[in-house]
Amino acid sequence: MINLSVEKTASRGIAIAPVYLYQEVDLTPDTALITEDQVEAEVARYETVKKEVVADLAALAEENEIFAAHMAIADDFTLQELVNQKICSEQKNIQMAIAEAVEEVSALFQQMDDEYMRERAADVQDIGKRFLIKCKNASVQDLSAIAEPVIVVARDLYPSDTVKMNPAFVKGIITEEGGVTSHVSIMAKNYGIPALTGVAGVLEQITDGVMVCMDAEAGLIVIDPLESVREDYEKRKQEQDAELELIKKYREREPITPDGKRVSLCINVGNTAEIKQALDKNIDGVGLFRTEFLYMDNQHFPTEEEQYQVYKEAAELCPKEVTIRTLDIGGDKELPYYEFDPEENPFLGWRAIRISLDMPDMFRTQLRAILRASAFGHIRIMFPMLISLEELRDAKAILEECKQQLREEGIAFDEEMEVGMMMETPASVLLADEFAKEADFFSIGTNDLTQYVLAVDRGNKKIASRYDSFHPAVLKAIETIIKAGHSHGIKIGMCGEMASDVKAIPILLQYGLDEFSMSAGNVDYARKIIIGK
Ligand code: PEP
Ligand code: MG
Repeated sequence: MINLSVEKTASRGIAIAPVYLYQEVDLTPDTALITEDQVEAEVARYETVKKEVVADLAALAEENEIFAAHMAIADDFTLQELVNQKICSEQKNIQMAIAEAVEEVSALFQQMDDEYMRERAADVQDIGKRFLIKCKNASVQDLSAIAEPVIVVARDLYPSDTVKMNPAFVKGIITEEGGVTSHVSIMAKNYGIPALTGVAGVLEQITDGVMVCMDAEAGLIVIDPLESVREDYEKRKQEQDAELELIKKYREREPITPDGKRVSLCINVGNTAEIKQALDKNIDGVGLFRTEFLYMDNQHFPTEEEQYQVYKEAAELCPKEVTIRTLDIGGDKELPYYEFDPEENPFLGWRAIRISLDMPDMFRTQLRAILRASAFGHIRIMFPMLISLEELRDAKAILEECKQQLREEGIAFDEEMEVGMMMETPASVLLADEFAKEADFFSIGTNDLTQYVLAVDRGNKKIASRYDSFHPAVLKAIETIIKAGHSHGIKIGMCGEMASDVKAIPILLQYGLDEFSMSAGNVDYARKIIIGK
């Protein structure tokens, strides 16, 4: 019997089953250079492979929206240009050219501090894998053939792998790489499959077919358990299954606290696919639409029309409320098509509203798109990272200009659209009273608020233990914001991670928080805690 323990849970739950070891095929690219007269044929070969990959992804996209995004990346001009350049100028063979181009594009994502964005690099690598499998005519282990209960153990799992897994048989997932916001985690959470990712060294310890017990919530893996240990896990699994059934029953119920306050329970999303997946969770809307992904998963600044279509779809999907945050780029989030000057302190630098106000044309494009979409539902707009009333006023003034333009053009929008702001800087806390007079709502961004109040970088592992949203100074900041907002009659939400923390929810309710917004996977648990009986 071997015990392993892991720090972070990707998807909670207990699983007991034999291991299905998923071994990757060797996709190491052929390193031989090509001759000049082979260049043309190699470029043509890439064209053919690309068409095949795009066609495969188009078929998958009908089942799962993730693959629509993958299709766009596979078909993307930048990737093609990079590959062609390596074939034509450096005489790399197609395998090398693809492998290097994919590395370069995914490195862009990997450099980011934000964990969610870092893990988007896996999408790019997944697409690269598809290309290489085609180029090498490789045969891959078929995860769709799994027809008995197993725990899948792999180095990493990409969307192209997870899409093949039948949740009826995959009882648990353990990967050596990947983080808690990777696709495999999201997929596991959606299906309620216990998962642990980033389990260093697990592949060395595990063999195919060996029995494993895992408790993802506690971060425990027991390989080849003693009978008594297995029985204990079986018993706890039954208890957990019963609890899960109970939690699901809460879905029907409104999130009303024991003392009778109806709060809002919303989700945070980065695209409309995430909204669709959460529609059966009885949510009150989207408390945070992070629009930066629209900009980052693109090869150019998204046009007004492109943005409008996305925001309109969101508004129609979620008629109760969609809170769209204007571009929050900079800090750790870069754009593949725009060069940011290097900065000493990016999180204290050119970020979020600062960029929008300095690039008013780009800002107007986004505001017009949001306004136009507001005619199709209940859209609220929210500005990130404000530190002064001037910024709020300037942003509102540009919004007013856009409204006036649309009126003159005879284009409909919601004249009453609420304009709110993220509360995530110490300055906004200290000025909460003043801001509350001019904003229609606040949404507390505890991810940034914690880092700025405590002067603790949210992405620095070395000081992670000091990053504490329960620090009295952070709690005091939250309480101050809620009090100030309420004294001016505005609603206060929270869209930082703290909103779904089971230990934080009772405190936040005590402070009087009106709206809790979180990733969809946490909504059921949060609802139960809010209702409290
Ligand atoms: C926050 O800072 O809490 C927040 C929700 O915004 P982001 O994580 O996107 O910075
Ligand atoms: Mg933030």
